[in-house]
Amino acid sequence: MCVPAHDERDFEFAKKFNLPIVQVILPEGEEEKELTEAYTGDGVIINSGDWNGMKAFEAKEKVPHIMEEKGLGKKTVNYKLRDWVFSRQRYWGEPIPIVHCEHCGAVAVPEDQLPVLLPQVESYKPTDTGESPLAHIDEWVNTTCPKCGGPAKRETNTMPQWAGSSWYFLRYVDNHNDKELASQEMLKKWAPVDLYVGGIEHAVLHLLYARFYTKFLYDIGAVPFEEPFQRLFNQGMITKNGSKMSKSLGNVVSPDDLVQNYGCDSLRMYELFVGPPEMDCDWDDSGIDGVFRFLNRVWKLVYNNKDLNVTASKDMEYLRNKLVYDITNRLEALTMNTVVSGFMEYTNKIIDLGKKKAA
Ligand SMILES: [Zn+2]
Repeated sequence: MCVPAHDERDFEFAKKFNLPIVQVILPEGEEEKELTEAYTGDGVIINSGDWNGMKAFEAKEKVPHIMEEKGLGKKTVNYKLRDWVFSRQRYWGEPIPIVHCEHCGAVAVPEDQLPVLLPQVESYKPTDTGESPLAHIDEWVNTTCPKCGGPAKRETNTMPQWAGSSWYFLRYVDNHNDKELASQEMLKKWAPVDLYVGGIEHAVLHLLYARFYTKFLYDIGAVPFEEPFQRLFNQGMITKNGSKMSKSLGNVVSPDDLVQNYGCDSLRMYELFVGPPEMDCDWDDSGIDGVFRFLNRVWKLVYNNKDLNVTASKDMEYLRNKLVYDITNRLEALTMNTVVSGFMEYTNKIIDLGKKKAA
């Protein structure tokens, strides 16, 4: 960022390479003194000519516009990843492909020996010492150093769940490929992902990590695009009596009971019908009755008219085309509840048409 006085990483970089650290923001009411760490708070502008004395937050707004006017640059937003602890003390996780050698230190496992696979174990429970369960499997831990050939030990921490969730979708497009992550051809054909549906809780961690991985893979030429997901949809949460469903609160609705009583088609359709997908909504046990009745109505209608063509009359053909048109638009907009209601209206109208004909 080129602001060593006001960014932790720039500060460390400048210290290491003996670069000048010019402070340009001073905490209000304080005197300028040598910085021992980056100052990232607000304050007043100093050491900046005409800008001196201006509040930092005002300058942040004005500077980009002046830069743009003078053709010196343009405003942009840079994201900064939080430091990411990348080791876990548990069995389930990708082994970190590093061995520790007394002579050579930490050595990366050579590419032709990848992937490092988890050993088969009797028990993968945590150890009493807080170490990874892998630490106790001597025949797996003890290995040879790829560099000097001497005795060495495998890293026994494993990767966090984010490690795999940051790139699995890239592998899906070419999952039998044993030469590379995925071929450029298949990546171009199927990726990037058109639509990502997920909870808002993933917005700052998982999604940033996935973008970070993708940008890195793009830089080394492994994938042909910089962004992994083209469209993001955050769905709402289904609550019960206003609270998040949880075992400890005892307010979990069991799908098994509903499937038993109504069948899984009714349950699935009710989940789609329960409300706009981006909104939180409260689960109402009796709501599924309406969907159950609707499906029964459809079943009867079809069963009683097995030989009838859906375009048997102009009226029916019109209704069907209107249904296709409406549903297509609603699917594109992801308003699944209105897709279901569209089918409900259509079914009612078809039934009415039949009644009119009979009369
Ligand atoms: Zn070694």
